[in-house]
Amino acid sequence: TIGMLALDANGDLAGACTTSGASYKMHGRVGDSPIIGAGLFVDNEVGAATATGLGEAVIRMVGSHLVVELMRQGNSPEKACRLAVERIIAKHKDVKDLQVGFIALNKQGEYGGYCIHKGFNYAVHDAKGKQLIDGKSKF
Ligand code: ASP
Repeated sequence: TIGMLALDANGDLAGACTTSGASYKMHGRVGDSPIIGAGLFVDNEVGAATATGLGEAVIRMVGSHLVVELMRQGNSPEKACRLAVERIIAKHKDVKDLQVGFIALNKQGEYGGYCIHKGFNYAVHDAKGKQLIDGKSKF
């Protein structure tokens, strides 16, 4: 999945995501990416989130909506992503090699991400140009 979240000069949030789906997917499978609330959710009053990983697990938890609601309750973007991943892990103990991650951005421009596996990276840019301002894996 490629997921993108943006906060513009007017303070408006936007998001988009795309995916090639899952390996060996069944014909007709719909993953989380095209389902608003699952693979992507933007609430212009609070924040935005997008997911990567096992779409079925993300859909079951309405994952990106969950991340935004956790931010609404006062959690930082990174903590909201972590809490959502932990909830998904708890509900999918039977799934071998479960992979799920989120990135999130709030109305104040704070951002974060969290993934089950170490080495999860995301890129952060501002509007000034091509410079990457952040993007190292933090855990
Ligand atoms: N979330 C996608 C899906 O399940 C897979 C991915 O991360 O690209 O369709």
